[in-house]
Amino acid sequence: MDRLDRLRGPVPPRPHDARAIAALAANPGCARRAVLDAAGVDKDATAAHLGYPAPFGQSPFAITRGNAFESLVKESGCAELLRLLRELLGLPIPLAAYTDLGDVGGNPSAQVRHSHTRKLLDKAARDSDDAGTLYDHPLLRLEIAGHSAYLEPDVVAFRLGGRFHIVEIKSFAVVDGQAEPDKVAAAARQAAVYVLALMNTLEELGHDPRRVSHEVVLVCPENFANRPAATLVDVRPQLAVLRRQLARMARVGAIVDELPPELTFDLAPDADGVPTRPVAELREAVRGVDARYAPDCLSTCDLCFFCRDEASAEGSTDLLGRQVRDALGGVATVTEALGLADGSLTPGEGQEEIARLLRLADRIYAEVG
Ligand code: SF4
Repeated sequence: MDRLDRLRGPVPPRPHDARAIAALAANPGCARRAVLDAAGVDKDATAAHLGYPAPFGQSPFAITRGNAFESLVKESGCAELLRLLRELLGLPIPLAAYTDLGDVGGNPSAQVRHSHTRKLLDKAARDSDDAGTLYDHPLLRLEIAGHSAYLEPDVVAFRLGGRFHIVEIKSFAVVDGQAEPDKVAAAARQAAVYVLALMNTLEELGHDPRRVSHEVVLVCPENFANRPAATLVDVRPQLAVLRRQLARMARVGAIVDELPPELTFDLAPDADGVPTRPVAELREAVRGVDARYAPDCLSTCDLCFFCRDEASAEGSTDLLGRQVRDALGGVATVTEALGLADGSLTPGEGQEEIARLLRLADRIYAEVG
């Protein structure tokens, strides 16, 4: 842990919210991201100091629209949400109790709110009453590489018939039953974080974690109107990737042990918090940990522009997307791939098969071209 603290420098670790944890599952093969996140490095500040500020942040319009839609779904004790759940789950919910866990007697501390959430979830799990119960703003916790991450409570946990469901409310539109696949995938990754945190909480409390459904209820506005519609999304694949990535981060010590002992991402902030670390030095430090750039990074990681430039300068096949990169397994650069394709480069050990396929593709292109 000392080593991770030294990598980060003398600032508190950056807390992980559900969005950040979900993004871990977007590129599980990247050692750079695993190390920076395990150390709690502020990637946003790092990217900005390197001269590659992250392209994220919702527009004020999108935030207002998202908040308005969420209020609509949750108003009058989640009346609209209950209507959707009745329709979607096909179960009669004549009376559902609504509990807001966002405020514990005015105490905003995460520990107090989390402990209150645990108490109520424990009670609900023991309760044999089949009536539905909605828990708004549950504050859940996940262990990320030895740090406790309290998850932003922007979901509803719903218990019915002894099973818990996570409800995720998003303001992107579903048009004719279709939503943008990237947005659904991002929502599924984020919901998987809550599902895992809820499973862990039940397990810690001595209950069967399988009582948390892996089907989350995704609520979105339908056909550009503000009328909410709900669908079930199976997040088992996202859960599997997330578990693997969290386990990898817990074992990040093995990657860190390979790094030079003097390596640090310390931004050396002055008294006003302004980074004073020479940019060239920080660039070398970041480049000291292997990255695995993929175009998906552009929507999930603060360092995306920096890593894209680096991959581009190296002519890396990573730029071509994961599918192509995986198909070219073992061929690191575009120049190398072209050399194997036109026969000017002799395939190295293990590259014979991909070289044969590249030569074949080159011949086909020449014939049809
Ligand atoms: S942007 Fe860079 S550090 Fe982030 S996941 Fe992609 S390759 Fe890794």
